[in-house]
Amino acid sequence: MFEYAPAPESRSVVEIASSYGLFIDGSFDGGKDGNVFKTVNPATEEVLAEVTSAGSEDVDRAVAAARRAFGPWSALPGGERAKYLFRIARIIQERSRELAVLESLDNGKPIKESRDVDLPLVAAHFFYYAGWADKLAYAGFGPDPQPLGVAAQVIPWNFPLLMLAWKVAPALATGNTVVLKPAETTPLSALFFADVCRQAELPAGVVNIVTGAGDTGAYLVAHPDVDKVAFTGSTEVGRAIARTVSGTGKRLTLELGGKAANIVFDDAPIDQAVEGIVNGIFFNQGHVCCAGSRLLVQESIADELLASLKRRMATLRVGDPLDKNTDIGAINSAAQLARIKELSEIGSEEGAERWSPECSLPDRGFWFAPTIFTGVTQAHRIAREEIFGPVLSVLTFRTPDEAVAKANNTPYGLSAGIWTEKGSRILAVADQLRAGVVWANTFNKFDPASPFGGYKESGYGREGGRHGLEAYLA
Ligand code: NAD
Repeated sequence: MFEYAPAPESRSVVEIASSYGLFIDGSFDGGKDGNVFKTVNPATEEVLAEVTSAGSEDVDRAVAAARRAFGPWSALPGGERAKYLFRIARIIQERSRELAVLESLDNGKPIKESRDVDLPLVAAHFFYYAGWADKLAYAGFGPDPQPLGVAAQVIPWNFPLLMLAWKVAPALATGNTVVLKPAETTPLSALFFADVCRQAELPAGVVNIVTGAGDTGAYLVAHPDVDKVAFTGSTEVGRAIARTVSGTGKRLTLELGGKAANIVFDDAPIDQAVEGIVNGIFFNQGHVCCAGSRLLVQESIADELLASLKRRMATLRVGDPLDKNTDIGAINSAAQLARIKELSEIGSEEGAERWSPECSLPDRGFWFAPTIFTGVTQAHRIAREEIFGPVLSVLTFRTPDEAVAKANNTPYGLSAGIWTEKGSRILAVADQLRAGVVWANTFNKFDPASPFGGYKESGYGREGGRHGLEAYLA
């Protein structure tokens, strides 16, 4: 194996303030009740900034600002709204180095992912929905589709800026205004985005950012003057939100958890499949709702594939997220690390065989070595529950029917992968999988033009593509 010299991206490309207020009605201000929380760099445990915790009065102000902005914003011709979205997309491209470093500092993800995946996709989403803004009459939702009003949007910490883009871009293109709450462990890129909105001269109140924890989110989604709720996060919180919203007339989309099967048939190209398995579960430290966290491999090639996978895993570089050679960065929080450790211990206790390559982890910060469990059965908790970390459960199958049955044997249904040389098998198997996205001979590929969303406990509604417009139109 090559020895790599350190290749650190400069942290000084982005300025982080010591404290941040809330972005309401076009400007930053402190919260009314003076509560703050700290956001830390998970790779070092260093405090990055103090952030305002929005109370009920603050959320009221944000919703009121969005309501005032809604009339004029929705009355603009689509082509005018598009200009703002294009401007935002361009500014994001111009400032993408700053944003990538900020995202890696606050989230722990490797810079090569924030730089080469998150940021290009964020800009692409704004470009894509900018393109729709003046074509809504041709999108298949009637000749004159109308916006809903004020959208309350609550997002998780795994792709902070990308989840913001998925929510804000279609909402604005369709003429809605938004109040967005980022996750409490990763608020900084959303606050940076507020500055991008100012730079783009977006009218005040069209986008409002309120920071805080679950109670801020709960208050926001329950607010009586909100017309639409869009949530991405855990199934448990999604259920609570569905209860809050039910019977209110608010529109709701939920993007929740997953436990995807990545199915490898005996005719698959092994080396490519190994790359897809690695990408499927170790990309973004496995903090991916659609991660390929259950590997289903045909029994006749299981030994060969696992040997190959272990060789590949031994080359993964775990460490400093800002090093351009890093493959696996830090786990986002102490709480998430504790959950990954707990479920992994349960995996061992239940009799699955645990393996990780040798790798030295930094002393400070939150780290977990890439891990696989073999000898896993459907009865194991690690085969059923979302771990949301770099942990792969390996199961085997003998026939395509068995693969389909095992793949669908989950309360979730967000994504799946199929690896085979036969096009006919791809079509036949994909047709039977109860998953919102099915990748064939690839994994974790995203495009703003393709819809994304779940079945069953993975949620409902679609984001992305033409389908993504529907969630914001009456
Ligand atoms: P989480 O549900 O704990 O938190 C998500 C967001 O909801 C955060 O902003 C949080 O502050 C807020 N929140 C917490 N309690 C709330 C409440 N009662 N009311 C309103 N808001 C509340 O999830 P997480 O741990 O941040 O994220 C991980 C989960 O997100 C995983 O299950 C993952 O699969 C899922 N996820 C899904 C998708 C998707 O598109 N389907 C994408 C990314 C993540």
